[in-house]
Formats: sequence, structure tokens, C-alpha cells
Amino acid sequence: MESTARPSQTILTVDLDALTDNYRTLRARLKGAACAGVVKADAYGLGVRRVVPALAAAGCREFFVAHLGEGLLVRAVAPRDAQVYVLNGLLPGEEDEFRASSLTPVLNTLEQIERWGEAARRTGAKLAGVVHIDTGMSRLGLPPGEAAILMREPARLSPIDLRYVMSHLACAEEDTPLNEAQRLEFAAFRARFPAAKASLANSSGIFLGPAYHYDLVRPGCALYGINPLPGRPNPVRQVARLDGKILQIHEVDPPRTVGYGATHRVTERIRIATVAAGYADGWPRSLSGRGSAFTGEIRLPVIGRVSMDLTTIDVSAAPHLRAGDSLELMGERLPVDQVAETAGTIGYEILTRLGSRYHRVYTGGPAAGA
Ligand SMILES: *Cc1c(COP(=O)(O)O)cnc(C)c1O
Repeated sequence: MESTARPSQTILTVDLDALTDNYRTLRARLKGAACAGVVKADAYGLGVRRVVPALAAAGCREFFVAHLGEGLLVRAVAPRDAQVYVLNGLLPGEEDEFRASSLTPVLNTLEQIERWGEAARRTGAKLAGVVHIDTGMSRLGLPPGEAAILMREPARLSPIDLRYVMSHLACAEEDTPLNEAQRLEFAAFRARFPAAKASLANSSGIFLGPAYHYDLVRPGCALYGINPLPGRPNPVRQVARLDGKILQIHEVDPPRTVGYGATHRVTERIRIATVAAGYADGWPRSLSGRGSAFTGEIRLPVIGRVSMDLTTIDVSAAPHLRAGDSLELMGERLPVDQVAETAGTIGYEILTRLGSRYHRVYTGGPAAGA
């Protein structure tokens, strides 16, 4: 939430009511499974200190982060009875801190299982852990050879309080046979540990149907308004809105050019608004000459290059605009997925980069102090 920008500048507004609506929308698709919240990368850039309490107020009790530092932040703002799982695993030397803060490591290798087991023996009690097997990402999790060893020697897990076995889908947002292949590989592993709960689906995986839900689903992006069903109607609401403050307006006559590289040459008199948002704010440079902004229902094109702190927008179609007014850079009319597509990236990257520099304003959510 810390920011060097003042409230008078470009503002990222996070709608906590939309966030919790999205949580409920996803949960409503489940029959018996629980719904976690994936809040890695500071809740996809939107701020764990407000996102976690809001999700908790909606009933969420299980949170996933990427690494130990994020886990400590979430632990500090989550309810006491919440579980915090650390996806990147247990690095050597982190055992005591995990234990002291009641963080649950996602164990990604036999070596991590071994080390967590030793920590449990030193403690004299079982320690909670999740076992992640790789079924097709080749990124994190026990590779097939290690998973096979664990299936033959399940006693390796005896010092561990096995909370979940989990895996992660590579293309849940697509209709591809890989989803079912991953599910079957996961089911075969899981059959060896019938007492353990299981977790497979991310946001898009929830929409693959109940066979993918198991005991816990792990949505991230859909909580934050990113469409888990690309190319189909978005079942979730926009959560993040970006309003760019107009610092100055220029009337520009031909043959002047706009911005670095003089990439845009003016052919008739136009009005240009200079907005306080640039690539250092996570407003992608690839929107140069391609992106847009809105005032009311009027779409206004980005012209010239996006620079470090500033973007130039042709506001000729909106003569009422003045310095000090704001333009919608992302929001209802410019959903995060659309901004991402124009920028040549995905909504995840847009959100996680936007959070750093803007003043963040939160609307809705649990009563102050909750
Ligand atoms: C990031 C992540 C998720 C959430 O994925 P979304 O596509 O954002 O819903 C779930 N599980 C794992 C292992 C992840 O790394």
C-alpha cells in the first residue's frame, strides 16, 4: 500500500466487493470442495493487506503464496485459523521459520520431504505439508521418477501431516487432451494416498467441471477479474481500475511530432493530454501508438510512445477535458484482459506490474479495522 504517488495523481482503485463477489461466484460452482485464494505476488499486485482480510471475511481460510517472505506477510493479516501454503517449496535453512510462523510448505522434491520430515523429528511432532507432484508443467513438483519412489515408499511421509496432494494444470483455459491426461496421472498418484485430500484446479480448472475440483480449488486470476475462460464471456467482475491524471493539455499543429522517436506526426490540429502513467508504473510501453483510454463512453487513442512516467493521448474527441481531469486507463470499459491483449501480454502481467507505484484506493470490503 505504500506509494510515493500522492492521491492527486494516477490512482489504482481496487474494488473489494467485486473481489469477494468473484470469490463467491467461483465457490458457487463447487459441490463439496473448498475454495482457496491464491495471493502470491502481493495478491497479483492488488495488495495482500486488504485482499486477504476481504477474502477471509467471505469465508476463505486457505491461502497460497509463492515464497516464505510472502507467507509471513499473509500470516500477519490472515485469521489465526487460516492455512498459508508456500508454493515455491522449502529452501534449506527455512525450516525453523516455517515452523515458527505456522506456514505450510508445498514440498516439491523428495529432498524437501526428507528435510521437513527431519524437522518434524527434531520437533517431536508431525509437521503439516502439501506434496506437489508434477503432471505436465515440468516446473515445480516431484518429477515422475520421484513420484514413483514415493508411491513405492509412502513411509517417507510418515513424519508429515499430509494436508493435500496437489498438482498444477498447464492449459486449463484450453480444451485440450492434456487436461485429462494430467488429471489421470494425478488420480493414479492420489490413489496411493487415499487418506490425503487433493487439489488440482486453478481458476480455469474450476470450469473444467467437478472431476477437476477434488477437495480444494486454487483460483488466483479470476478473483482479480481476469477472465478464466478466454474468448468466452467473463464470469467474474473487474476488480482493478486505473485512472490516469491529466497533467497538461497541448494543442498541436502540423508538422509537429509527439513523443520520443517522433513516431507520430500530426497531420491536423489535435489536442493531446499528457497523463501521469508510464512504463515505470507498469503501464506497458508496448501500448505506444496502440492503447486507449476512456472518458465516459468516448474512446481516446494513445499516440506516440509511452515514456517512463507519461503517456500522451489524443483527446480531440473530448474537448471538455482539462488538466486535472482523469482518464480511465483500465476498468469496466477497458478490462484488464483487453489492455493485456493490446499490449501483447496477459492480464496477470498487467496486474502484477501495476501495483508498485500508484496510489491504491480500496472500495468496499470488510468494515475498517476488520
Ligand atoms: C498461480 C497458481 C495458481 C493460480 O492460478 P490462476 O491461473 O491465477 O488461477 C494455482 N496453483 C498454482 C500452483 C499456481 O502457481
